[in-house]
Amino acid sequence: MLSQLAKGLVPYTAGEQPRDRRYVKLNTNENPYPPSPEVDKILRSLDAESLKLYPDPDCTRLRDVLAEKEGVERGNIFVGNGSDEVLAVAFAALFDKVAPVKFADVTYSFYPVYCRLWGLPYETVPLDGKFMLARGGFCDCGGVVIANPNAPTGIYEDVSEFIGANFPVIIDEAYIDFADGKSLAGAASQSENAVVVKTFSKSYSLAGARCGYAVASRENIEGLDRVKNSFNSYTVNALTQAVAAAAAKDKEYFSGTVAKIKATREKYRGILNAMGYECTPSSANFLFAKVPSGDGGRAYAGLKEKGVLVRWFNAPGISDRLRITVGTEEEMEALVAALKTL
Ligand SMILES: *Cc1c(COP(=O)(O)O)cnc(C)c1O
Repeated sequence: MLSQLAKGLVPYTAGEQPRDRRYVKLNTNENPYPPSPEVDKILRSLDAESLKLYPDPDCTRLRDVLAEKEGVERGNIFVGNGSDEVLAVAFAALFDKVAPVKFADVTYSFYPVYCRLWGLPYETVPLDGKFMLARGGFCDCGGVVIANPNAPTGIYEDVSEFIGANFPVIIDEAYIDFADGKSLAGAASQSENAVVVKTFSKSYSLAGARCGYAVASRENIEGLDRVKNSFNSYTVNALTQAVAAAAAKDKEYFSGTVAKIKATREKYRGILNAMGYECTPSSANFLFAKVPSGDGGRAYAGLKEKGVLVRWFNAPGISDRLRITVGTEEEMEALVAALKTL
């Protein structure tokens, strides 16, 4: 027997994680490089007995490291089990059911799922012809959610005007470390209305550890805490707290891998463009390439058959494109070779 809610939910579909064969896996924006060697050290020095205790429910040490990194106070940081969880908590903490939550029609497809889970009305605002936000569409609303850089387009834009708006705003900066533009985390910590959400999954190579965080005013963070502590005090396990702190502190390793990915992105953006696969100017760790034939689904299936996995969204306005994670040079060469056989 199920509730009406559970019967009606249409969940988010995550990218495939197939186990049937080895793929060149360029479909879920994972980082091709391992996490910092400091993470390895932590895991090797782990005392199994420490796991008999519950983890720190407030992630105090990790929040101190993150506060230092972001130039804010510990009270401005909320940590969750991946930024997907942080986003779910933020939707519940910030938005009311009185007016629609607005987000772009082409953006992270989890946003409408959270709205339906929490019973929030929502409306999508079409992006313009260059996949940019149509600013005029974001008034008269109960709140706004923006992924910046956006997914799956990769496009970064200056959205600082939303800080200080008279409605709540969530800015999802999952890919900000790959952009030349600036994070709004510091500004959000000084604002009444904005929450910036970040993740260790992409730029820190820790998708498997599940760690994301929010930066916001002390009042807004307290609201997120109340929501989280109303369903689970211990969302972030002890291993993840230790590993994320170690990764965040190793700034040199982090800048090195991010720089490599950005260089590979620019190199293969040029190569794909020259092959007729026109890419958006990406500020993320993926390329959003238009398939010359216009048939994204066929290109996706053709690549999969050749052992190269990319993501294709069968959605209006983007079904002629592939989202291709920036991998190592070797992986990108395999992609190019496979594209040539299509
Ligand atoms: C990957 C991604 C996330 C989720 O990241 P996790 O921290 O792994 O949950 C959130 N938002 C966007 C736009 C993403 O692409």
